[in-house]
Amino acid sequence: MLRKNLLLLLFLPTLLLTCNKEEDLTVNSEPEPEIEEELPYPGVDQALWVYFERYEEEGRARGIDIDLRAKRITGVIQEISEDGVAGQCTYSSFRPNHIMIDQTFWNRASTRAREFVVFHELGHCDLGREHREASFANGTCQSIMRSGVGTCRDNYNSVTRPTYLNELFDTDFANQIQ
Ligand SMILES: [Zn+2]
Repeated sequence: MLRKNLLLLLFLPTLLLTCNKEEDLTVNSEPEPEIEEELPYPGVDQALWVYFERYEEEGRARGIDIDLRAKRITGVIQEISEDGVAGQCTYSSFRPNHIMIDQTFWNRASTRAREFVVFHELGHCDLGREHREASFANGTCQSIMRSGVGTCRDNYNSVTRPTYLNELFDTDFANQIQ
């Protein structure tokens, strides 16, 4: 069972100040390590790969051309210091679209809850979606893009999953901030 406060998700767009040119040059002049090129998702923790793959499959099944590798979306599982935050999507001039999933959350979460959080963050980082708090008549959330601080109840399970994924990849909602 996932504690509600652990599902509190934050979307933190961070803007770096003017980047250091020297550093920029160093980065650009270094050849990519060869092994990185062979990874399905360079810069992404291996534990996240299966969720990245599934996300791409689900998006493609809905007619959206998704290539997280080409978009250079990176992701790590590590402790997030803010209390109750399970995941974040951040972007900066240096590293656009970086996902961070809280290690403590990850260790305790079910496969379904992990998928929920990774898909939510990819909703921000890949689709450019903002939060959506709408609820159905029974009080359950209409979107996995809910903030977690609203009033709707999560209801992401094997039965509702296809509906939630239809909503996630709905182009009416996508690319709101990109
Ligand atoms: Zn969010």
